[in-house]
Amino acid sequence: MSELQLTGVRKAYGGLEVIKGVDLDIKTGEFVVFVGPSGCGKSTLLRMIAGLEDITSGDLTIDDILVNDVDPSKRGIAMVFQSYALYPHMTVRENMGFALRFAGVPRPEIEKRVKEAANILELEPLLDRKPKQLSGGQRQRVAIGRAIVRHPKIFLFDEPLSNLDAELRVHMRIEIARLHKQLAATIVYVTHDQVEAMTLADKIVVLRSGVVEQVGSPLELYDDPANLFVAGFIGSPK
Ligand code: ADP
Ligand code: MG
Repeated sequence: MSELQLTGVRKAYGGLEVIKGVDLDIKTGEFVVFVGPSGCGKSTLLRMIAGLEDITSGDLTIDDILVNDVDPSKRGIAMVFQSYALYPHMTVRENMGFALRFAGVPRPEIEKRVKEAANILELEPLLDRKPKQLSGGQRQRVAIGRAIVRHPKIFLFDEPLSNLDAELRVHMRIEIARLHKQLAATIVYVTHDQVEAMTLADKIVVLRSGVVEQVGSPLELYDDPANLFVAGFIGSPK
């Protein structure tokens, strides 16, 4: 089943078009990775899917329903940012529960979901700490926890590991792959790191200057890159 569909999606800032007619089909449970150089439009595309940015033209559907004008909070989507944006004065528990409290979810349900997310992310011993008492990797896990407690249908990640050192990045990459399996979640993940893309993705979308150059599995892109740009980016010899 196609869960998320983009048809002829464009975005212009003033007169400048930065997303130039993107068509994409994302299936339930798929791990889709957007790759491409800095400035090619990865974040803009993700923000349009999340509803944080208007679509200039084209259609965005979730479960076959047009959501172009649907409020971000009603799309069943949760986004994890590169900068964790945790509330410094709140504990891990409060950070994870905040959006639910704001949405009026009853307290026992919030507690249940926070406990469940903390369990998945192995954050239980840290629930009463403040962000400044956490390592970078732990903070990023809390940021992911804030998304998990919302029980979204679709997770969006915008370069979630780029602020971490190399060793931690490898560790978190494995965590995210495990999470994908465990939650059977649909994930759209932005990175400019080829290794992350090749190891995490079911499907890679290669972007250049607001245009999709190629869509395919890591193996397809490696074995049969559409052009030199894709070959150069994925690292295969063509
Ligand atoms: P990426 O995430 O791939 O690095 P972005 O989606 O952030 O790229 O940006 C794509 C292009 O759109 C860039 O040229 C960027 O300068 C431009 N852009 C992004 N946000 C804005 C904005 N709010 N106003 C004007 N231009 C923007
Ligand atoms: Mg970006």
